[in-house]
Amino acid sequence: MFRKILIANRGEIAVRIIRACRELGIRCTTVYSTADRDSLHAQIADEAVCIGPPATKDSYLNMNAIIQAAINSGAEAIHPGFGFLSENAEFAKLCEKNGIVFIGPSYKSIEILGDKAAAKETMSAAGVPVIPGSKGAVKSIDEAKKIAEECGYPVLVKASAGGGGRGIRRVDSPDDLESQIIAAQQEAKNFFGDDNVYIEKFLVNPHHVEIQIMADKMGNYIYLGERDCSMQRRNQKILEECPSPIISPELRQKMGEAAVTAAKECGYYNAGTIEFLVDENRDFYFMEMNTRIQVEHPITEEVTGFDIVKAQIETAADMPLDVTQKDIEIRGHAIECRINAENPNLDFRPSPGTINALYTPGGPGIRIDSAVYQGYTITPYYDSMISKLIVHASDRNEAINKMKWALSEFIVSGVDTNIDFQLEIIKRPEFISGNYDNGFLTRYMESRKK
Ligand code: ADP
Ligand code: ADP
Ligand code: MG
Repeated sequence: MFRKILIANRGEIAVRIIRACRELGIRCTTVYSTADRDSLHAQIADEAVCIGPPATKDSYLNMNAIIQAAINSGAEAIHPGFGFLSENAEFAKLCEKNGIVFIGPSYKSIEILGDKAAAKETMSAAGVPVIPGSKGAVKSIDEAKKIAEECGYPVLVKASAGGGGRGIRRVDSPDDLESQIIAAQQEAKNFFGDDNVYIEKFLVNPHHVEIQIMADKMGNYIYLGERDCSMQRRNQKILEECPSPIISPELRQKMGEAAVTAAKECGYYNAGTIEFLVDENRDFYFMEMNTRIQVEHPITEEVTGFDIVKAQIETAADMPLDVTQKDIEIRGHAIECRINAENPNLDFRPSPGTINALYTPGGPGIRIDSAVYQGYTITPYYDSMISKLIVHASDRNEAINKMKWALSEFIVSGVDTNIDFQLEIIKRPEFISGNYDNGFLTRYMESRKK
């Protein structure tokens, strides 16, 4: 096992990884920007190294500064968390070149799966159903027109290198296709440094259901059930639950096996998530694979009792998985609400500032993965997610009830948060009945305005 790990991230995920290190008896070094001196991850790690100014390109995306910090601190491995450098193949390669273990899949897997258009091709060839659309990136406007015609409008133009809900455009009519493709290419170039775009049939009000997988370097694979992430605003998840209210045990097994096939196809190891869209016929289609730990991983941990972050570190240290598929059982129901410092009534405008009072709920089945404390000042430089509230109960109704009172108890004062908004959502009859799809929140926001 490693003696020391460097954590190349910030916020609640850095804190989550510190805790996994503590459980494994590993020392940890965190990195922080000058804006993050007082942040929780920098305060509670065994060592913390300042790697640069607030702008992410100069700090959390600064590969050389991070590698240097790892070398100086004597870390044998780097955990990249999510976002930042977590899906950057060049960074994974750079770690290897410097004799540091990248806690994640091989850079080759990241390369194959990071190109979303090419990844769909790979999966399709392996027999995994994919969302209909172009074969790889589109090469010409004429080709794009033909494919869009075959799919039927509306279609989506997606950046091959996109992520975080960005780089997706909907096109409703052939007249707009050319201009939208050109705009999408320009945007993709600016945001992701890659102007490849691909075309996909727009599925009407599907469900986002993803499968968590875990694999060791010896070729053992398991799937850890699904997460329903259909509660989305602008293609960004805000609440997740496990199990999904629309997935039967038979479908779970089918999707789980498809996910393992997808991962095996790329010689994948470590934790990964295969995202699928599920339509009204309960047919499922591969959308993309995220080659990292995911924001919503705790709900899977709660229902399976499997510690995904610990397993990431263990498998990176060449240890075999200590469970097989038959050991994995889904017990009860878990829900996660992302708590963001933002104002839902002002178009979700981020709300930086000082937290002058904080009271967090507790008790059986309540878990809080957080990066804030009383007196902490949230800076404007990074993501507005400050905390995650996770509940686990014996069934869905109990989980919803628990989440209701937990949200009502949660007090964050000094900044605006979406706590009341989350409460509003979980009280909606559509949510309570489990009868909501990816389009629900958009429709609800429209009706709320009126
Ligand atoms: P998850 O799939 O785990 O829910 P998200 O899509 O919410 O992940 O992204 C996790 C974090 O990573 C967010 O902070 C998001 O803004 C960031 N992120 C993900 N992909 C990208 C990307 N390609 N460029 C910039 N930020 C990204
Ligand atoms: P990202 O890499 O930003 O996570 P995804 O390709 O995973 O992007 O898509 C993000 C979200 O956008 C999905 O969860 C879904 O809500 C929506 N979406 C993506 N593709 C489609 C599609 N073909 N039809 C309908 N909705 C889609
Ligand atoms: Mg996605």
